[in-house]
Amino acid sequence: MPADEAGVRALGVEGKQYFLTSDKWGKSLWLKEGVWSASVPLASMHIPGKRLLLTITVDGMQAREKSPAVLKDVTVELEFLHEGKVIKRLTERGPDGPTVGFRVADDELGPKDTPTPAFVRDTKGLLDYAKERLRFMQTLPWASRPLPKRFAIVTDCFGYKPGSGFAVRTANKEVLLTELESVRELGVNGLRQTPDFVFDLIKEKKGIGKDLSRIRIAIGVGYPVPIWNAHKNLASGCPYNPAMRGYEEKEKAQILATLAYVEQQAPADEIWLLEVDEIPSVFDWAPESKSHQSTCPYCRAAFHEFLRRQGLTLADFGAKRWEDVRSTYGYWSKSYAETVAAAASAAPSS
Ligand SMILES: [Zn+2]
Repeated sequence: MPADEAGVRALGVEGKQYFLTSDKWGKSLWLKEGVWSASVPLASMHIPGKRLLLTITVDGMQAREKSPAVLKDVTVELEFLHEGKVIKRLTERGPDGPTVGFRVADDELGPKDTPTPAFVRDTKGLLDYAKERLRFMQTLPWASRPLPKRFAIVTDCFGYKPGSGFAVRTANKEVLLTELESVRELGVNGLRQTPDFVFDLIKEKKGIGKDLSRIRIAIGVGYPVPIWNAHKNLASGCPYNPAMRGYEEKEKAQILATLAYVEQQAPADEIWLLEVDEIPSVFDWAPESKSHQSTCPYCRAAFHEFLRRQGLTLADFGAKRWEDVRSTYGYWSKSYAETVAAAASAAPSS
């Protein structure tokens, strides 16, 4: 970098015409093709208790603008130095895009971060790392025995994209295909999230795709209720709100269309729709969050109805009125409407 301010200005716009060089995690490093960058201490990338999976994305000079010049067929070379001597050199390719990955065996460094033979042996590109794992799976004593066909076993397997960004670890399909072979060795016979080219393999019953059509999990249509936001819709997160009446009919068409799309994308013997990720509660959409189930008169009434259908009576709860029978979650909480009303009556009149 130029030492003076005028020199820096002459470079142009930071992040566009040039990137600041830094050895900090997640920061950009300005690289010139065919020229080694300055070395970066491995310790600066170490996350305690975690193995380092290093992802490098090579942006073109204009790649951050709206029409990114995404690089393809990128080759990244890494050199590991100790006391000025090269102890390992790696080359990893991204045939379809600018992202490559490396497994850096920093968990196998010796005292004071000195390299060990294990560090040198186990530090490798993502493709070799994936191949090594597959070899391990294939040489297990029971590897020759049949893999599950009738039980449906499903997982996510992604990390490939012909680009860069969130959850992208490689732009090499071979890495993902190798991972899928390992996943199959674990018994998996269906997928949820995976790159489109894998769905194509499933659809065309090609390669590993032949073994991955026992089951499929896809994203469904989600909760039918509105989510609490600036519109302050009191039906938010409330499945029993009168405004929700008849929602099943309205959703049916949407669900059928979603199923048809999933089936067309990659058919499977069995398809499950995941309505919401990471197991939340419909009440999380309400202003009171999960306490909604206790504070909302509609949801309480539905709860009472549910209890009565189970043949339960007030005596089973030692209660005199149904009004006192509530879900324990938020039993003492106030609804949003009650809180607003209380604040209004407490406000000094002018
Ligand atoms: Zn409700």
